[in-house]
Amino acid sequence: MKDVVLNNGVKMPLLGFGVYQVTDLAECQRSVEEAFRVGYRLIDTAAAYRNEEAVGRAIRQAGLPRDEVFVTTKLWVADTGYEKTRRAFDLSMKQLGLDVLDLYLIHQPYGDVYGSWRAMQELLREGRIRAIGVSNFQPDRLMDLMVHNEVAPAVNQIETHPFHQQAEAHAFLTDNGVQHESWGPFAEGKHDIFRNPQLVNIATKHGKTVAQVILRWLVERNIVAIPKSVRRERMAENFAIFDFALDDEDKAAIAALDTKTSSFFDHRDPKIVKWLGQRK
Ligand code: NAP
Repeated sequence: MKDVVLNNGVKMPLLGFGVYQVTDLAECQRSVEEAFRVGYRLIDTAAAYRNEEAVGRAIRQAGLPRDEVFVTTKLWVADTGYEKTRRAFDLSMKQLGLDVLDLYLIHQPYGDVYGSWRAMQELLREGRIRAIGVSNFQPDRLMDLMVHNEVAPAVNQIETHPFHQQAEAHAFLTDNGVQHESWGPFAEGKHDIFRNPQLVNIATKHGKTVAQVILRWLVERNIVAIPKSVRRERMAENFAIFDFALDDEDKAAIAALDTKTSSFFDHRDPKIVKWLGQRK
């Protein structure tokens, strides 16, 4: 597996596995165990997904050397603030059954993210976390966090797929040494993405699938991708992307699909800020 090197020297796999909306704990544990067997080593969960415990069980069941597994979890909005972050972190670690976490992300740019960041910087210095970062931060929010703190985020995990390519955010993150990570690489199936004629054409040309073309396009941009699937054959399909390359014609056809708009919701919409801010 190819790695990216984060701004503090920590290595992170370029391709990983996400478990959002896998709420059945037995299914989550089975999926993560299968993902390890397929070869995935980066697992992306969050306190808000309510499946950290199942991820932890799968990690123990797999019995891989700890330094071969890269685990990300995230701090929910209701737990922002210095004290609450320390408590939420301890709870996540208990659920996961880990002593050291590889990557801890502030899940949303809301609430007392400055108090949270102070706690996270401390946990980093204490050696409880190897890297800290954020998710769903727009460049201005990220810059504000960087300017007023010692440690710059190592990662920003944002919605990124062919219909929302995030070219400007990508340039900003690259310029500032923050690793771009994609969530929702398949837009969760929206836009009938797997049957999009342009993507199907590219896939047919390379003898690959649409899912493989999308993931290849992300990793060629040096964006970490964490596709989710509960089906073993799709996990394997999504993992087999390192034996072909997209050409300029393919890249131009994908570039033309960009709507430059979220396929889900606008993180700056006050209704969304309120809704997510009140979710437990
Ligand atoms: P996604 O990976 O874009 O799409 C998942 C969907 O695609 C599932 O319905 C899955 O179905 C299907 N699928 C997977 N592989 C496929 C293939 N090869 N062919 C056809 N269908 C396929 O969506 P996501 O889960 O939202 O995003 C990925 C990860 O990003 C999440 O699991 C989570 O870890 C993270 N995330 C983070 C945030 C955030 O705010 N930070 C938000 C959303 C997601 P099956 O499972 O039935 O195969």
